[in-house]
Amino acid sequence: AAQLFGPLFSLGSTYRTLTQAATDLEKCVNLLTEPITVQDDANAKPFEVEEEALVEKRVGDVRFENVSFKYHGTERGSSGGLRNISFHVAPGRMVAFVGASGAGKSTIIRLLLRFYDVDSGSVFIDGENVRNYSQESLRKQIGVVAQDTILFNRSLRFNISYGKPDACDAEIYDAARSAALGDFVDSLPLKLDTIVGERGVRLSGGERQRVGCARCLIKAPAIVLLDEASSSLDTQTEREMQANLREVCKNRTTIVIAHRLSTIMMADEIIVLGTDGAEEGLGTVVERGSHAELIRQKGSYAEMWDLQTSFDNGELSEASEVKDS
Ligand code: ATP
Repeated sequence: AAQLFGPLFSLGSTYRTLTQAATDLEKCVNLLTEPITVQDDANAKPFEVEEEALVEKRVGDVRFENVSFKYHGTERGSSGGLRNISFHVAPGRMVAFVGASGAGKSTIIRLLLRFYDVDSGSVFIDGENVRNYSQESLRKQIGVVAQDTILFNRSLRFNISYGKPDACDAEIYDAARSAALGDFVDSLPLKLDTIVGERGVRLSGGERQRVGCARCLIKAPAIVLLDEASSSLDTQTEREMQANLREVCKNRTTIVIAHRLSTIMMADEIIVLGTDGAEEGLGTVVERGSHAELIRQKGSYAEMWDLQTSFDNGELSEASEVKDS
């Protein structure tokens, strides 16, 4: 476990460098805008979801069966990937992935969005192989919320309705309210017409994330992917963010890539990915279980948890010293 813990701690936790945080940001943008490289099957059908089925938790079942995948391109000078990944998320449930940088957490998301086809094994959504769905419909039903939401230099209306361009103002306000952004919008003289971003009203990290949540709420996808920022937050901000995210995940199947372990304590299953000792450096499942089970196992997750909680406590006492002086 000590061997495993080294890279998890130095690369995968809150101690990441700013450069890595910047790549995370880029990655989030790429997730939303990555071009379609895989061709639709000639008989591809749309993945359609009715709101009623969503509320009754009858749709959004995700299953990876023995999935192995290797990046073939060498644009990043590496050949990472995944080996033998199996997991199941029932409709409305939450599974979380943790692990060192490069362990393959984002690759899971990319395979679910079908940016790439798997080499072996299968990815199923609602019992249907993702290869059989049209990619456009797949992306419509999968919402991505990154904690570092990037804004367009356009109006708040544009930024929120990006997930559903034909949304009317009432819908946009509804989404804004559900994402705890209602008071903020009301406080702006130009309301939804306010230009935000670099050249407009600057939003705080928390406000930007709420825009990201509103965007996802209005899109109302069956499946939500949360790509969490690695930067550490103060307790108050973190609580607010978690409340926003809970709203977005309600009734929806959720897959979280977590850096802050406190976000995922409630996950139905936590999967720790690692590459240590794995063939060809491909990411594989190292540990899995609920938070309580993993703490009892006293393995790498338990060590990460101990470290993160002791780091957070240390950080908090330092912050209060600064305030006191
Ligand atoms: P992080 O926590 O840093 O975001 P991760 O666990 O999400 O890491 P992935 O992004 O899934 O890791 O990458 C898994 C492995 O695949 C890494 O070794 C990475 O360098 C490699 N990889 C990722 N994308 C590509 C690509 N497009 N081409 C080649 N290799 C890639």
